[in-house]
Amino acid sequence: MQAKLTEMQVRERLKDIKAFVIDQDGTTYLENQTFPWTTDFLKGLEQRGIRYLFLSNNSSKSRAEHCRKLAESGIHASEEQILSSADATIEYLKTLPGHRDIYLLATPCVENDFREQGFDTDANKPNYVVLAYDLTLTFDKLDKACRLVRKGVPFIATHEDNNWMIGPDEHRPDVGALAAAITASTRVKPKFVGKPNAEMVQAFLKRLQLPKEQIAIIGDRMNTDIRMGQEHGLLSLLVLSGKTKREDIPESPFQPDYVVDKTIDILKLLEE
Ligand SMILES: [Mg+2]
Repeated sequence: MQAKLTEMQVRERLKDIKAFVIDQDGTTYLENQTFPWTTDFLKGLEQRGIRYLFLSNNSSKSRAEHCRKLAESGIHASEEQILSSADATIEYLKTLPGHRDIYLLATPCVENDFREQGFDTDANKPNYVVLAYDLTLTFDKLDKACRLVRKGVPFIATHEDNNWMIGPDEHRPDVGALAAAITASTRVKPKFVGKPNAEMVQAFLKRLQLPKEQIAIIGDRMNTDIRMGQEHGLLSLLVLSGKTKREDIPESPFQPDYVVDKTIDILKLLEE
């Protein structure tokens, strides 16, 4: 098994872990179908007093919608237990000067989340152009964003993924692809925020109020979940229930600290 740590070493590291940040698709569920072991895994964490936070690079849904979607799949999480790339972008923007005045490309519900956090999302003189996963994108919005970016307004995008997988061989263009249209027109590349970037890490550190040594990442993708752990010094556990197969592991420049077939196997590692 390819992993940086032996079973004994990972057991030792897990003794310090107070919270897991957990990927959704491929880790918690697959294509809207919750894995049969997911609720037992989460229950097991709760019984051990370990907290968890779901991470998502889907910035088309509001916090309430993310909650509802999980609840429909039998997973009951509060809004505090969900962190999307849109939430991380809100936190990142709050650290920037003049952040309240933005031009936002987003679905109405995500726009509402920004407004509730005090942003003017269609400001007269925006200081930032912010691209979320806008499933209501129109040519006029794209044109307005390009005009602003061309004038020098900084361009921020919630995450870099080019495609959103909606079925085994079915993809929809994601934020990376939409951002590429603006970049092609303006020659300006955006600042990306979501997984695997530092701003996503900052956002969950702030939410959990724990040091990095007490948080572990669980995910199915080498180039986002595992990369985020490796580059930011957090324990990373790869599950093989999603995108990555065992034979893909050696080819990746990003290597997990430990590999398990599925999340429930982590409970065994937490046992004395
Ligand atoms: Mg995933």
